[in-house]
Amino acid sequence: RAKERGAGTVEVYAAHMHETVVSRLELQIHLREALAAGDFYLEYQPVVDLGSSQVTSVEALVRWDHDGRTVPPEEFIGAAEESGLIVPLGEWILREACQKVAVWRISDWDIGLSVNLSAKQVLSSRFVSTVAGVLAETGLPAEVLTLEVDEELLLDDGAEAVASLSELRGLGVQLAIDDYGMGYASLAHLRELSVDAIKIDPSFIDDLGRDDTVTLLTHTIIQLGRDLGVQVVAEGIERPEQLEQLRAMGCDHGQGFLVARPMSADGVEALVGGEVGVDL
Ligand code: C2E
Ligand code: MG
Ligand code: MG
Ligand code: MG
Repeated sequence: RAKERGAGTVEVYAAHMHETVVSRLELQIHLREALAAGDFYLEYQPVVDLGSSQVTSVEALVRWDHDGRTVPPEEFIGAAEESGLIVPLGEWILREACQKVAVWRISDWDIGLSVNLSAKQVLSSRFVSTVAGVLAETGLPAEVLTLEVDEELLLDDGAEAVASLSELRGLGVQLAIDDYGMGYASLAHLRELSVDAIKIDPSFIDDLGRDDTVTLLTHTIIQLGRDLGVQVVAEGIERPEQLEQLRAMGCDHGQGFLVARPMSADGVEALVGGEVGVDL
């Protein structure tokens, strides 16, 4: 009987796996259709200078309108990476965001743009020429664009990724390490790849002032950034005490729901047009 039950368990497990694989494939098909149909759109989250409370840049964040709801990137970026769709999707995101910010800059607004990258994109053969092409096409100066990569990218395919990213940096594009501090060798990564900014992982900001070790680590990252001449951005600021502490620690820039939520391009225009100010 035990054997029977064992076999049954395997069967249930296999059926579950089958379902997972099928829904994964379905998701990949839906994503492909969505790209063709134009069902992706971007939101932009303002990043402020913590000293002046001025919005200095926006981070583009992809969204997907599907079955009457907005699907967050965490639910589909993985599938887009697996299927390779992230390459054309990533190119669309980059072009869309660069076009938008190029238009804003025409009206004399000195604003920067950050775009997130997946490892698959960075490792695709045409990556450098794609980025250079989009900049040329949209007229956005290279220095205005920051490409965000996370530390995992430096672990898995380190050398190749570093080569492409360094080539882009040579063209003037800025690089940022996203979710900084979560990797096993966060300090070593700063040696492998020259970057212009580090974005402190929100888990640090969350425990700021509550956990002494985390507070000390955050302070150390900020100090490290200053010593290396690298911009430091604190991500996930939700509470006023966090903001106060980050300011006291001399952190350059901040991003988070307390500052501003991700919003439509129109929302950004309204915010900067003074209709809704960032009051910090
Ligand atoms: P990320 O690049 O670290 O982006 C920041 C995420 O934190 C965003 O989630 C943003 O909405 C959220 N966030 C910002 N402030 C706060 C806060 O105060 N509290 C909390 N709880 N969350 C905050 P989102 O848009 O869901 O994106 C999640 C992740 O998906 C991003 O993390 C990034 O890794 C990935 N992603 C988003 N857009 C793209 C994209 O265009 N391309 C690629 N490859 N990945 C993307
Ligand atoms: Mg990011
Ligand atoms: Mg990330
Ligand atoms: Mg992040």
